[in-house]
Amino acid sequence: TPSFGVGVPTTTRKFMSTVAEKEKETYEFTSDVGRVMDLIINSLYSDKDIFLRELVSNAADACDKRRFLSLTEGESVTPSIQIKADPDNNTLIIQDSGVGMTKDELINNLGRIAQSGTRAFMDALGDGSADLGLIGQFGVGFYSAYLVANRVEVVTKSMQEGSKQYRWSSTADSSYTIEEDDSVTFESGAGTQLILHLKDEAVEYVESAKIEELLQRYSEFIEFPISVWKEKT
Ligand code: ADP
Ligand code: MG
Repeated sequence: TPSFGVGVPTTTRKFMSTVAEKEKETYEFTSDVGRVMDLIINSLYSDKDIFLRELVSNAADACDKRRFLSLTEGESVTPSIQIKADPDNNTLIIQDSGVGMTKDELINNLGRIAQSGTRAFMDALGDGSADLGLIGQFGVGFYSAYLVANRVEVVTKSMQEGSKQYRWSSTADSSYTIEEDDSVTFESGAGTQLILHLKDEAVEYVESAKIEELLQRYSEFIEFPISVWKEKT
């Protein structure tokens, strides 16, 4: 399939501010991503719980890469994962102190599909031999966020020397935006924060008890510390 203009901003809006001029760039997803997202966002699949397993496993992969790379960089970080359910804003936040992503990595990892598994995934769903719960095996686990969220933001800072921090955002239409960000501070110098703006029918995931239950069920063998933020009672 042709994918013209991939990685090239299709529109650029400039926001004037007295401090600095920030650009918000809009990019098109490749068509395979569009198909996967359509399928997920319109899915009647009832086991939405699996999104947490996918996102926690991505966070753990990023922690693992950082742990490995920090050995050669002489860094001393113990990567970890934090989860915060925020009922006031109807969001679920999943943060890791992993490798993070550069702007190019955001475009290449979240805007297109690296593995050629999409076709296989679509075919398997179509002929009933697979269900959405197997999404992770096809290299498109990230998009399972759209089972529960109608908008996903990814704030990320790569551990690569001199990297800037970026905010990726998409409502699962055909495009996503990227802009520079300074709203989050990654104390270890790098990491990724996913902000899931939950759908009305997914409000159950703003309960920390629900999140803890899912972590016990699905993420038992994650080898990095996972903490769930809770209000003091
Ligand atoms: P897979 O994990 O099988 O590669 P995903 O769709 O789950 O497929 O994720 C796509 C890619 O996005 C990952 O390979 C990784 O490069 C990047 N990614 C996703 N989540 C994170 C994260 N928390 N930190 C760094 N990179 C991430
Ligand atoms: Mg994954």
